[in-house]
Amino acid sequence: MIGVLARDAEHPVVREFFELFKTPWEFYRSGSHYEVLICSDIRLPGNSAKLIIVYGAEQKPFDQQKGIESHSPCTNPILSYKGRQIPIYGRCTTFESPTWQTLLHESTQKPAALEISSNGQKLVRIGFDLFQEIHHLLTRGQPLVQARIPALELHITVLRDLILSCGIALLEIPPVPAGFTFIVCLTHDVDHAGIKNHKFDHTMFGFLYRALIGSVIELLSGRKTLKRVAINWMAAFSLPLVHLGLARDYWIQFDRYVEIEKGLPSTFFVIPHKTNPGQGRDGPAPAKRATRYDVSEIGEQISRLLSARCEIGLHGIDAWQDERKGRAELEEIRRVTGASEHGVRMHWLYFDEQSPELLEKVGFSYDSTSGYNETIGYRAGTTQAFRPLGVERILELPMHIMDTALFYPDYLNLSPKEAETIVAPLIENAADFGGVLTVNWHDRSIAPERLWDDTYLKLLENLKGRRPWFATAKQAVSWFRKRRTAAIESATVAGGSIRVKVSLGQAEDDLPGLRVRLHKARAGQTGTLGRAEQHDDAFVDVLCNNSGEIEIAL
Ligand SMILES: [Zn+2]
Repeated sequence: MIGVLARDAEHPVVREFFELFKTPWEFYRSGSHYEVLICSDIRLPGNSAKLIIVYGAEQKPFDQQKGIESHSPCTNPILSYKGRQIPIYGRCTTFESPTWQTLLHESTQKPAALEISSNGQKLVRIGFDLFQEIHHLLTRGQPLVQARIPALELHITVLRDLILSCGIALLEIPPVPAGFTFIVCLTHDVDHAGIKNHKFDHTMFGFLYRALIGSVIELLSGRKTLKRVAINWMAAFSLPLVHLGLARDYWIQFDRYVEIEKGLPSTFFVIPHKTNPGQGRDGPAPAKRATRYDVSEIGEQISRLLSARCEIGLHGIDAWQDERKGRAELEEIRRVTGASEHGVRMHWLYFDEQSPELLEKVGFSYDSTSGYNETIGYRAGTTQAFRPLGVERILELPMHIMDTALFYPDYLNLSPKEAETIVAPLIENAADFGGVLTVNWHDRSIAPERLWDDTYLKLLENLKGRRPWFATAKQAVSWFRKRRTAAIESATVAGGSIRVKVSLGQAEDDLPGLRVRLHKARAGQTGTLGRAEQHDDAFVDVLCNNSGEIEIAL
């Protein structure tokens, strides 16, 4: 059991951290015995814990008593850990310590952690405040430059490694559904739903320019094949026929998505009200944020998507900043889908710190706006659905990969090959840390003139080979919710096995089960973090889908 001694103001973030690193813990109670004591407070009471981990950049009163020498803290350093970078968003101090060479300040190569042992008790002093870092990640999030780093998952990894390397075994309910390697959410923001909706507007002229001239430029730079240029030219020349109703509207791609996803359920976020740009942070949003279609015009397509097991969510306009308008937007989607529960992703990813609370009041079950327009990666540093601080029920499903971020000239401006390369580490991270990989491919992106279907198809094939659970956004969030209701009540070692009592607050459902993971202690590896690599037998998983007792062989 881990005891946590933190300042009162940090308690909400501590609770959320241990929903993501789901291992038995409680807030420190004096007189209780803990195997591990984590302290970010200024006090450090006397106790019998085998391992004490003290986080914080500032000098603590006991630093002097223990003879800990630290350098003056710096702000926003990058640490390196086992070949990975961990950005620190607050202050971080470094120490003079020859024993710790694994968590280093990248530019000075000074250790950001120090270890002292006495009377069989180990104290590890870490030079930053873990819970302030988690607070930063879950509220402000990471800047573009560090977008590709799953910082929150790395903080969990460092802490877990540290405990195991001190010879202490650890039980955990990892963010990995039973029978699968991780979760994939395929999502589609529906911004257009047909080129016919665009007559002599900037979208139509933009399309013609990019199809006729942009394609040729892309051909010359090797980014489009001649065949694809020909498809775009045909599309451009057939546009009058589309308007006359004599040719198919090639920007209506719902059925094609169902076809290429071959039974993998995906989620379509649709617009509630057309010709409404909504409000931006500083007044009315630009006129071009308004769409030319809304949910009431695509009822038939929505029925087909629902019968293909897809989900319909709201692509919100003003819900992020106006409760009354949020209710009207939700009502509009409900009217067409008939479903009682909906999630939301805001159009153009409009969002601020008040948005989770507003969206919860309106009645959404999840939001999936946390991501970047400009790049791909982890705004909140995590592969997991989390509960934003200050709300009670709504979960945030982070969005990781968006097509327009990959290909827009103003954003990453990648070739299809480069896009594949840049996406690969995100798939590796999902395989390493578990959790979810959320992909957003816009409705018209597989049509002329974008023709980003090849990249999407390759991504699907690549993902399928990894054996993830393909889930709608709602299913994925429900699975994370189910994991949040689970708790490891007790664990007793008897003979060659450990009996673990698990409680699960949720009744039977058709979601994948959970697993209880026993990480074996890495005995005798103290102070050698990084040198001791994880072996295949480093942990044992036992599946668990009900409350009760399970047995794990040691
Ligand atoms: Zn949009």
